[in-house]
Amino acid sequence: DTAMYAAKRSGRARYQVYTPELDPRARDTELRRAVDAGEMVVHFQPAVSLTDGSVKAVEALVRWNHPERGLLMPGEFIDFAEETGAVVPLGEWVLRDACRQVAGWHATIPGADRVRLSVNLSPKQVVQPGLVDIIRGILAETGFAADKLILELTEGVVLEPDVQTVARLEELRDLGISIAVDDFGTGYSALSYLRRLPVNILKIDRSFVTGIADDPEARTVAEAIVRLGMAFRMSVVAEGIETAEQARVLADMGCGYGQGYHFYRPMEGTAAAEALLALSRG
Ligand code: C2E
Ligand code: MG
Ligand code: MG
Ligand code: MG
Repeated sequence: DTAMYAAKRSGRARYQVYTPELDPRARDTELRRAVDAGEMVVHFQPAVSLTDGSVKAVEALVRWNHPERGLLMPGEFIDFAEETGAVVPLGEWVLRDACRQVAGWHATIPGADRVRLSVNLSPKQVVQPGLVDIIRGILAETGFAADKLILELTEGVVLEPDVQTVARLEELRDLGISIAVDDFGTGYSALSYLRRLPVNILKIDRSFVTGIADDPEARTVAEAIVRLGMAFRMSVVAEGIETAEQARVLADMGCGYGQGYHFYRPMEGTAAAEALLALSRG
């Protein structure tokens, strides 16, 4: 991406080439400034029951409303933020903003208090010693119910957690928070960590869902994850469902929950609240 744009800062215009090669320190500064300046936006994508279609949760997905480049997707800045550590204040902002918005829906939309909120947690956040206190503080500040919160971790984080990380996740579980393993199946084959960690939910990665109707190998992996979930008494959510056929195949193999464009796309908070309101009216 070598697009030129005019950056108007401190009153004077200057030109800057926005590329991934831009001085990493300048990029990091810009990203942290953007969080403080309120340029981040949370979108929400519902997850539904594959049995009855009801909305069970909404996942918070961050976007950057960049003043010159428009709405940026996480693929354009999350990995970089992870490298520099800017993902820590960014992730904290997402959690606070999402809890604040969804707490409002819980309080005002009939039946919406059953809908849980799922937030992605970066590897850098999970190893943060103060994480539990920060989360406890955000729940208190926003009035969000801990048992309605799901934190999504990627397999990389949970593969070989140090004792402090295990203790931290157990503390979160003791608060009533659920832990999901995101993009499940794409990481490593060591499954022993599932027994040692307080994991409640497995999210089947989209790469296995995409081919599920006609690729026997994708179907086999999805089936194995559904069985694993049953064996460990975990809920299983299939990500990236785009067709009715994929939804049917997954429901038939006993997968309880699904998420994807077939049901809902990620949407702004106001649109998500409207969707929940419409559902409450039948
Ligand atoms: P993820 O957590 O696995 O989220 C699912 C991604 O798949 C989202 O992309 C979502 O928009 C997209 N998606 C959902 N349904 C479909 C579908 O039917 N088809 C297709 N093709 N895509 C679908 P998005 O929003 O671009 O986010 C990408 C990734 O960025 C997320 O993957 C997550 O790992 C990360 N991310 C997003 N928000 C945050 C955040 O607040 N903190 C952290 N640490 N990571 C985040
Ligand atoms: Mg996720
Ligand atoms: Mg995922
Ligand atoms: Mg993913």
